[in-house]
Amino acid sequence: MNVYLTFDIEVWCNGWNDLDRAFPACFERYVYGHSAHGDYALPKTLELLNQHGLKGVFFVEPLFAARFGQPYLDTIVGLIRAAGQDVQLHLHPEWTDEALQPLIPDCASKRQHLSYYTLEEQTTLIACGKQMLEAAGSGPITAFRSGSFAANQDTFTALHRNQLLLDSSLNRCHAVSAPDLLQGRDLESVFAVDGVTSFPVTVFQDGFGKDRPAQVGACSFAEMRDALWSAQRAGMAHFVLVSHNFEMLKPGLSQPDWVVVKRFAQLCAFLGQHRDTFTVGSFGPASAIGPAKVSQPRVGWTSTARRYVEQALRRLP
Ligand SMILES: [Zn+2]
Repeated sequence: MNVYLTFDIEVWCNGWNDLDRAFPACFERYVYGHSAHGDYALPKTLELLNQHGLKGVFFVEPLFAARFGQPYLDTIVGLIRAAGQDVQLHLHPEWTDEALQPLIPDCASKRQHLSYYTLEEQTTLIACGKQMLEAAGSGPITAFRSGSFAANQDTFTALHRNQLLLDSSLNRCHAVSAPDLLQGRDLESVFAVDGVTSFPVTVFQDGFGKDRPAQVGACSFAEMRDALWSAQRAGMAHFVLVSHNFEMLKPGLSQPDWVVVKRFAQLCAFLGQHRDTFTVGSFGPASAIGPAKVSQPRVGWTSTARRYVEQALRRLP
């Protein structure tokens, strides 16, 4: 089974009112996450992957740099490329109206989701993001993930127009994730739209029967492990896990969240130990798309109960 360890890499300024004042400290936190224990944002993420010989996919958001300057994007791409990891395109178009030079003609007000933009606008914004990453030294951009998993049919047409034929934008736990493509599809299996192959984020059934996306910050290690084995036994060909540059940090702080750090370290060790079963790597032309429909991965109740305990621990001061 192919396993994709994907990371959405983005910088936020805790609101939109005081961007330029807030940005320098936010950039430090989101990119480095300096603490007395080490740098638990991007550097620790890259270190753990490389320690276990794993290749991740880093979907990097570039549009913030249309406000603050290309050198900041160069820094992020440089860190990831220096670690030998894969850089691809993530896009949060809510930066569009904050850019110093207009990226599209209609940028007077903020529109959050990519699906709120016309086909022409989506095509232009994707082209712009791709060009900014490649200028930062990303290497060829071939894959895409939309911000907040928001996408529609036009997104896939826009990707095709930009020769981006691999996508991982869909997550059926999010209502904005291609509702217009839902007819007849379950957004679970890999499928092709407009010549673009889309690898949805894997959603498993937790120990109490609820849908749960395979996200490092939102699952116990035991759940991710159970879901991987369950998917592999069911014959799934592709399993997509999600994380972010800031998931190992406590909310709003640069301090490590040890529960999530341990989870991610355990996940990396597990995948490193089982590389004969799980092939961890980049998205490629899905020559073997895999079975159209397999049963949803499930996890045991003790693994989900473990998450409840962990989430309670994380809320302790
Ligand atoms: Zn994002």
